[in-house]
Amino acid sequence: MANFKTHLQFSTIGSGLASTLFLNGQFITAEDTILCWVAGSFAGILPDLDSDNSHSLAILFGLLSIVACAATVLYGVKHWPLLQVWGAGVVTFAAVNLLIRPTFERFTVHRGIFHSVLGAIFTGLLVAIISQKCGLSPTSSWFIASFTSFGFLLHLILDEIYAVEFTSISVKRSFGTAFKIFDYGNWKTALGLSMGIAALCFFLPPSEDFLGIMLDSETYKKLLSGVYSV
Ligand SMILES: [Zn+2]
Repeated sequence: MANFKTHLQFSTIGSGLASTLFLNGQFITAEDTILCWVAGSFAGILPDLDSDNSHSLAILFGLLSIVACAATVLYGVKHWPLLQVWGAGVVTFAAVNLLIRPTFERFTVHRGIFHSVLGAIFTGLLVAIISQKCGLSPTSSWFIASFTSFGFLLHLILDEIYAVEFTSISVKRSFGTAFKIFDYGNWKTALGLSMGIAALCFFLPPSEDFLGIMLDSETYKKLLSGVYSV
């Protein structure tokens, strides 16, 4: 399997190339390009999130701790005495790291639910909804969501590439376990994730403009011609 660093490099390069391609074709703004690039790069480490003690898990819970503590402190400072605010910050940190993280680790198995195409779709749709809630336009939200799924898929592809032994043209036992549509061995989690996707569909931003761009063959001609001409 590819390691954390290789995954991050692969997704950073892949989403960097793709996002500048769309910027060059004037389909996205410079701000969107940066968001798409970051989303695609970060998504490249997400599928390994369910491997306990992974770097991705440490980064995610590190971020979650910071955001949760900052939100608690910002809320508390307006309502409580400072001593209580500090206490609430400590309780929040402990809750994230001693309660939520062990629970997450207990209920997820590596190469399980998230390490699949369904996982890529679920994460992308979730990002589309969150992006729009944060004030981005529907089209920008869909671009960032697509780059998230793209980075996610790059991870699955890289794991499969690493499962091929090029020197002897043989495949390792892990071949076929990385890039899968859903977790074949556990249909309950696959069903749960499918239901999650169905539920997210009720909250998605309007997609007409975005689909208009992506389904138009002119888009791809413009993207390609931009590679070698100004
Ligand atoms: Zn992986």
